[in-house]
Amino acid sequence: MKKILITGGAGFIGSHVVRRFVTNYPDYHIYNLDVLTYAGNLENLKDIEDRKNYTFLKGDITDEAYINGIFEEYQFDGVIHLAAESHVDRSITDPLAFAKTNILGTMVLLNAFKTLWQNNWEGKRFYHVSTDEVYGTLGETGLFEETTPYDPNSPYSASKASSDHFVRAYGETYGLPYVITNCSNNYGQNQFPEKLIPLFINNILTGKSLPVYGDGKYTRDWLYVVDHAIAIDLVFHKGENTETYNIGGFNEWQNIDLIKVLCKQMDQKLDRAEGTSEQLITYVKDRPGHDLRYAIDASKINKELGWEPSVTFEEGLSITIDWYLNNKEWLESVTSGNYQKYYEEQY
Ligand code: NAD
Repeated sequence: MKKILITGGAGFIGSHVVRRFVTNYPDYHIYNLDVLTYAGNLENLKDIEDRKNYTFLKGDITDEAYINGIFEEYQFDGVIHLAAESHVDRSITDPLAFAKTNILGTMVLLNAFKTLWQNNWEGKRFYHVSTDEVYGTLGETGLFEETTPYDPNSPYSASKASSDHFVRAYGETYGLPYVITNCSNNYGQNQFPEKLIPLFINNILTGKSLPVYGDGKYTRDWLYVVDHAIAIDLVFHKGENTETYNIGGFNEWQNIDLIKVLCKQMDQKLDRAEGTSEQLITYVKDRPGHDLRYAIDASKINKELGWEPSVTFEEGLSITIDWYLNNKEWLESVTSGNYQKYYEEQY
């Protein structure tokens, strides 16, 4: 039985990846390592927590002794590394926390993996999950390709860029078998309501304003989280070592247009007059270092591995909104911080 370590599996994207691997690969044992920050929530995995091929490990990727200990104990054949501090706004107020987790934490994992397998790499793989934000910003035209030079602008993207470089450097220097993917903005079930789509769903539900940065013209590519998990599965099994793959939804939106589509769907689902939610839009002061436009060229993963998104944006958004409307307790609990208190008592 292969032993796969997934880090950050209690978070938004990680929980979808863990579910997919536990469910689809009964011959793998999946170890979900997560320290359960405000963004980690084991409720996200309630449906699979009793599976025989699943184990949760509470631990910090920056804790070298602990990480070396679990690599020694479990002898992981593969690592899918998602654990990170992930919110750009938080990185502006506390950049050191991002350097610690995203850079040092990744290095601790790389070291443990290298020490465990030395040069005995047959059947082993280190998969680093990264972001398109490492490429910096685009003008009105163009797309990020795998060869686009790194040019990060926020402490978050700088920390992710740095961790990507370390992964590559371990490949070059020690021959460590790795793959990296750089993905665009994700949305979907279980996303912590500090990110745009769940924040706005929550604010519409609670009648709060919808804060839009600057003129609302910032442009992002959006991908449904389950499609990201499918892509990760594909790259983990079929990707080439030392390669990078961009993952995106072929789905660019200016923030303000996306917000209007979200408002419209919310009005329909809540049976409110069209335009009700839009009235909550307020323009707020821009954040520093804000990148104008991200857009991904995902043709490499499409051509080489046959991946493409399984849903349109409108479909994915509708599924997402329905999930939040049907899981108001989850939303209330994570916004009230109750679940964090619970974990402090549990673990
Ligand atoms: P998230 O913030 O929802 O989850 C991160 C998880 O990592 C949480 O469960 C948290 O408890 C855990 N974690 C944080 N610090 C840890 C530590 N020191 N030790 C162990 N666990 C720790 O993030 P997400 O949005 O699911 O993103 C997951 C990964 O995907 C990140 O590496 C992020 O950079 C990358 N990514 C995210 C997006 C996106 O749109 N959300 C897009 C592209 C790439």
